[in-house]
Amino acid sequence: MNVLIVGSGGREHAIAYCVAKSPKADKIYCVPGNAGIAQIAECAPIGAMEFDKIVAFAKKKDIDLVIVGMDDPLVGGLVDALEAEGIRTFGPRKNAAILEGSKAFSKDLMKKYNIPTAAYENFTDPDKALDYLKTAKMPVVLKADGLALGKGVLICNTLEEAKEGVKTIMLDKKFGSAGNEMVIEEFMVGREVSVLSFVDGNTIKTMTSAQDHKRAGDGDTGLNTGGMGTFSPSPFYTKEVEDFCNKYIYQATVDAMKAEGRPFKGVIFFGLMLTEAGPKVLEYNARFGDPEAQVVLPRMKNDILEVVEACIDGTLDQVDLQFEDNAAVCVVLASDGYPVKYEKGIPIHGLEKFDDADGYYCFHAGTKENDGQIVTNGGRVLGITAKGKDLKEARANAYAATEWVEFANKYMRHDIGKAIDDAM
Ligand code: ATP
Repeated sequence: MNVLIVGSGGREHAIAYCVAKSPKADKIYCVPGNAGIAQIAECAPIGAMEFDKIVAFAKKKDIDLVIVGMDDPLVGGLVDALEAEGIRTFGPRKNAAILEGSKAFSKDLMKKYNIPTAAYENFTDPDKALDYLKTAKMPVVLKADGLALGKGVLICNTLEEAKEGVKTIMLDKKFGSAGNEMVIEEFMVGREVSVLSFVDGNTIKTMTSAQDHKRAGDGDTGLNTGGMGTFSPSPFYTKEVEDFCNKYIYQATVDAMKAEGRPFKGVIFFGLMLTEAGPKVLEYNARFGDPEAQVVLPRMKNDILEVVEACIDGTLDQVDLQFEDNAAVCVVLASDGYPVKYEKGIPIHGLEKFDDADGYYCFHAGTKENDGQIVTNGGRVLGITAKGKDLKEARANAYAATEWVEFANKYMRHDIGKAIDDAM
């Protein structure tokens, strides 16, 4: 079949890598893609929010299946636009992608269906939010309702900071219309774990666990980023935690969406916090995480197209989802200065070293080709993933492979997965 992938990050490269392995795949396309994806798929310069152009492209290229990787087009209704033209698409429709698109919606859903999460209140009026803060326990967490590139969450230690936060989100509109509504949430303490899952509207099958590192600097210092690295599995995602989540969180979420008339098909990403009172949902995403996908997908044994089709057809219950009994670590190579200010267009060398290296992957994010030379084209440039028999070995392998690639302003964290190892 002809497959079209929508997106341009390391996540979409990891998806494309899995699709390319499938015997079911004939021709693979990606919009807009990047220089790495272009090695296994035909890329076209169409933006992920250019729905009309994507639909026209899918028709012209006889696409049998579209996989939407990114949040914005999902929340904006790309799946609906493609389905309206009879094109099979993997991902939630707009009315289900709201699970990620509105934090106020997802909090209300969890409250209504007794899914464990932090205590909260939603606000559309900044004065009421400020009033509420007077009696709130510090620290407190402020969240812009809508999509904000992972930056719309403010953890405030004092009342003053929190007041400033309300101003930033609701009055100054730092995150645009995402801040028309706001969630004020109890601050939770615990370890974070990410669990991705495939969902077909009724059935949910969870993938292996992962954990990302959001801060720019070693030791979880510096600014929040899109993610500087990941490891999988998380040793803290024990059988006990999994059993709890199976009982109170995963199926409960799928059933809640169905009961609301918003059946969810696609990937639900559960951001969990393992608190003293048990696991609680920090956030939902309506797609694969990035860079989580870069450690989870290489460990998946199934043919991704079979799983994706089962989600669309509602036959996921017949799929035996399996992951390798090993570990993987992904270290993001970024441009120095990310996430604030960085140079682009710098030549990248050494990429060919990954060509025949079994168990090693170089997933492209911010790259492009200039006259036959691959150059940097973003803050997060590459995701270097390696497998190993355990986290320690995977980490050593991934860091060794980060040395294979060179570009002038290469920056990475040096402690991806380390704290976990130390704690074991
Ligand atoms: P992304 O989509 O990039 O993962 P986001 O903007 O959707 O991020 P959240 O995942 O909800 O935001 O929050 C970002 C981070 O803020 C979390 O990973 C967690 O570290 C922290 N955080 C969020 N809510 C809480 C909370 N209630 N208590 C403590 N920390 C929190």
